[in-house]
Amino acid sequence: MSQETSTFHAVSHYFDVAADRLGIAEGLQSVVRTAEREVQVQIPIKLRDGRIHVFTGYRVQHNSARGPYKGGIRYHPHVNLDEVRALAALMTWKTAIVDVPFGGAKGGVDCPAQDLTEDELELVTRAFVDKIGDVLGPNRDIPAPDVNTNAQVMAWIMDEYGKLHGDTPAVVTGKPVSLGGSLGRQSATGRGVVHAYCEAARTLGLSPDATRVAVQGFGNVGSWAAQIITELGCKLIGVSNTSGAIHSDVGIDPNSLLRHLAAGGRLVEYPHAADGTGVEVITHEDLVALDCEVLIPAALGGALHAANANSVRARMVVEGANNPTTPEADEILHDNDVLVIPDVLANAGGVIVSYFEWAQNLQHFSWDEREVNDRLATRMRRAYGEVQERARAELVSMRVAAYEIGIERVVEAGCLRRHRGYV
Ligand code: NAD
Repeated sequence: MSQETSTFHAVSHYFDVAADRLGIAEGLQSVVRTAEREVQVQIPIKLRDGRIHVFTGYRVQHNSARGPYKGGIRYHPHVNLDEVRALAALMTWKTAIVDVPFGGAKGGVDCPAQDLTEDELELVTRAFVDKIGDVLGPNRDIPAPDVNTNAQVMAWIMDEYGKLHGDTPAVVTGKPVSLGGSLGRQSATGRGVVHAYCEAARTLGLSPDATRVAVQGFGNVGSWAAQIITELGCKLIGVSNTSGAIHSDVGIDPNSLLRHLAAGGRLVEYPHAADGTGVEVITHEDLVALDCEVLIPAALGGALHAANANSVRARMVVEGANNPTTPEADEILHDNDVLVIPDVLANAGGVIVSYFEWAQNLQHFSWDEREVNDRLATRMRRAYGEVQERARAELVSMRVAAYEIGIERVVEAGCLRRHRGYV
C-alpha cells in the first residue's frame, strides 16, 4: 500500500473503530468523517531554467464545529488529495483531544521543496496563498508549518495574505518571532513528544537514566525531541533521516549532530558518539528494530507497518510524526505489549503552542518562553491524563480512547451549534 493510501486508510479505520464504539448513527458519522470544504488549485511557476511547471495545491477544511480550521501546510512531491484529507481529519481530532478552540484542516503542494531554490519556494508559496487566500483568515482557517515548510514560508503566507486583507499576523502560526511568532513554537512539537514520554514512563516505572531512545527523522520534531529528551538524562542511541541511519550504544549527542548537519554534513557521515568513539551506520529497518526503550517515529506516515512492527523492541512508541503506524502495525504492537502514544496526543504540542501564538497575536501581546513552556506542559499532562483514564476505564488502547474523546467533543459542539447534519 502506498504511503498516502495508508494514511487515508489508517485515519478512516481509527475513526470507524471509535465512532462505532460511541454508537454514533451512520448519518452523523458520514457528516463528521467527510470534509466540509476541499480546495484544489493550480500553481504555475516559472522555474530557474525557464520551464513552466504546474504544481497542484490543496487545502482541505475538515471540520469547524469547535472553531476556525487549523492545520499545517506540507511541501512534498507525494502530496495528494487523499493524504491531505486524512491529515486534515487528524487535525480535527487532535485539536479536540487537547481541547484547543480550533477545528481541523491541512494543506499541501506537490512540489519537491528540497530541489527548489528559496526564490522558487517563495513563488510557490505566494501563488498558493493568492489562490486560497479567500478561505483563510484568523477566524476562518489558520495554517502552520509541516514537512518542508518553516517559519520563513509562514512569513511569506502572512505577507501575501496581508496584501489583500491588511496586516494580519494571526492568519498563520509558526511565524518568525520578530513577525509575531511565539517563543517556544519551534520546539513545541518535540517538547510535547517528550511530555508524552514522561507521562508514559511514569506509568511504566521507567526512569530517564534507564531509557534508550531511537529517533526516526531528524527534522523539526525529531531533532527537538532528541535534544529535550537527552537533557532529561535519556540516551539517544539511534537516529535517521533520508540519508540513512546511525547507531551508537554509547549515545549520540544531538546538539553535536545538529552542528554537523548545519555545516553541510550528511547524517550517515557523522563521525563520533558522545565519548569520541565511532558511530555505526545501520539500515532504516535496523533503526526501527534497535534494542531500546523508546522509539520516536518523527518522519513521514506509514513508517511502522505489518512487515516491520514485529521487529520493534522498544517498550513504547511515541508518535512524533502524523500517522506513522498502520492499523496492522498498531495491532501487532498492541499484541506485543508495546505502549503506543498516538500522534493525535503525542505530537499535539505544536498545535497547542500555535493556539498560544494565535491568542497572543489577537491580544497584540507576547508571553515569555517559560510561560509558553509551562502552559504547554499543563495542557499536555491534562490531555494525557484524560486519554489514559479513558483507556483504562474502557480497556482500550490510548489511540481508541483519544479518538473517542476527540469525536465526542466535535459531535457535542456540532450538536450545540445545530450545524446542518448534526441533529
Ligand atoms: P521536517 O521536514 O522538519 O523533518 C522530517 C525529517 O524526516 C527529516 O529529517 C527527513 O530527512 C526525515 N525523513 C523523511 N523520510 C524519512 C525516512 N523514510 N526515513 C527516515 N527519515 C526520514 O518535518 P517535521 O516538521 O519535523 O515533521 C515530521 C513529522 O511530524 C510529519 O509527519 C509531520 O506531519 C509531523 N508533525 C509536525 C509538526 C510540526 O510542528 N512541525 C507537528 C505535528 C506533527
